[in-house]
Amino acid sequence: DKKLVVITGTSSGLGKATTKALLRAKEYHVIGAVRDLEKMQVVAELEGFDMDRFTPMEVDLANFESVKAFTENLDKFRGGRPIDRLVCNAAVYQPTLEYPKWTVDGHEQQLQINYLSHFLLTSKIMPMMTDSSDARVVMIGSVTGNDNTVGGGGVYPIADLKELDGLELGCKKPIAMMDGYNFNGAKMYKDTKLALMMTSNMLHERFHRSTGIAFSSIYPGCIAETPLFREKRPWFRKYFPIFMKYITGGFVGEEEAGTRLFQVLHDPKCTKSGVYWSWNGGPREGRGIEAMEKGGQIVGAGGAGGGWESIFENDQSDKVLNKDLVQKLWENTNEVTGAQ
Ligand code: NDP
Repeated sequence: DKKLVVITGTSSGLGKATTKALLRAKEYHVIGAVRDLEKMQVVAELEGFDMDRFTPMEVDLANFESVKAFTENLDKFRGGRPIDRLVCNAAVYQPTLEYPKWTVDGHEQQLQINYLSHFLLTSKIMPMMTDSSDARVVMIGSVTGNDNTVGGGGVYPIADLKELDGLELGCKKPIAMMDGYNFNGAKMYKDTKLALMMTSNMLHERFHRSTGIAFSSIYPGCIAETPLFREKRPWFRKYFPIFMKYITGGFVGEEEAGTRLFQVLHDPKCTKSGVYWSWNGGPREGRGIEAMEKGGQIVGAGGAGGGWESIFENDQSDKVLNKDLVQKLWENTNEVTGAQ
């Protein structure tokens, strides 16, 4: 039997690249949770997804009802089999908006799509995972959720949930931000990533022992070529990838980022829970899936054949680890999403 993997946002970028890697490994069946089934169909055809091992399923993360309907469909689809992996990957990035955009549920869009809906989704899917012998939940964080680093701490605006006053009040129109302060699109995005990383820790603390599920977050590297930056100005889109590639060395291609996330889903050492996974160094030749296959193995478990040894357990910032704030985030997010 194939392992069942649920990934949000498989119609683009990192989600698409990771799905390609999983489908090559042959032992997985991927359920792609996407907002646009037609787009997914086209992408799957162009990318040559093996449709025997890929099932697209509709979800609009900007709508809690849609998230609930998705989990009901998923439950029917699995027919009693456990879900083995859940990846909270989909996101939107709206750094230049002057005013917030709102969802049907009355939340700021980045907040609900990136964070609140993934929280709800995880709470609904976790009970379907407990029978798996190797269950993993992975949150896609960001360097911006870790202020120990230049990208996270040094670049304005800085992710900061403060005392979570906005979320405590429900974070509904006109309250956009979790900290309750004025709207700032770029900060909102970073706040959602920080909240996801805190959620991973809180799930680890609360549920790892009792369920055996491994909870982790990752920073895949800056994938400057994905459409995530579609809302940035054209000059930025044109030069940012070049800047990242040649000046900062922090750039990774979509395929390599997908290989990294694949490693966290596949590598036996990534059954460890409560970890924020990162990778050392920039991209190197021969790290893609093709190179690994040429080397005779798809998986570098043990490190052979493709740079998998560059993975490491990264430090987490004081903000991510702040237990009081994590507790408050847990209570308020349950309230706002109706998860519990
Ligand atoms: P993309 O924009 O390529 O992919 C985002 C995906 O999210 C798309 O498939 C998109 O669907 C989906 N999505 C957006 N809104 C919704 C919604 N309402 N309901 C369901 N799905 C939705 O970006 P990336 O691949 O770069 O981003 C993937 C993850 O990686 C994100 O979590 C991002 O924060 C993170 N990340 C990205 C970095 C980068 O440098 N790019 C760096 C660090 C982290 P559709 O295909 O229909 O548009």
